[in-house]
Amino acid sequence: MPSIFSRIIAGEIPCHRIAENERFLAFLDINPLAKGHTLVIPKQETDYIFDLEDQLLADLIVFAKKVGLGVEKAIPCERIGITVIGLEVPHAHVHLIPINAIGDMNFSKPKLSFSQAELSTIAESIRTQLS
Ligand code: AMP
Repeated sequence: MPSIFSRIIAGEIPCHRIAENERFLAFLDINPLAKGHTLVIPKQETDYIFDLEDQLLADLIVFAKKVGLGVEKAIPCERIGITVIGLEVPHAHVHLIPINAIGDMNFSKPKLSFSQAELSTIAESIRTQLS
């Protein structure tokens, strides 16, 4: 069965897209730790990020860098925190999180809630910075 992220790639499940090319997709996390919390995934479905072939992993990080710099321009923050967890969704992904303090990377904290309209606006503001 395809992962939920493969279903997003296929367009079966909606997402707020930030950036995409033939190999990677970036979209807003649906349960964000911070405004602008973005996920970056390879389109190739692989559970564990360290099982990605070296070049694909390297290119994923470079793609995440470009996206992260756009997030940083769109969302006021000290910097972009980058982390990999992968305990919930078995499809490799990088979290990009606007942060101001170490506690902003605490995944045990309650998640934020934004309306679909708010998420659309956030995604658009990041896309604008990337174009
Ligand atoms: P983890 O696998 O522990 O790194 O967490 C998976 C992340 O994916 C969580 O932050 C979820 O909020 C996020 N997530 C799960 N389903 C979706 C979805 N349909 N769209 C966007 N983000 C999602």
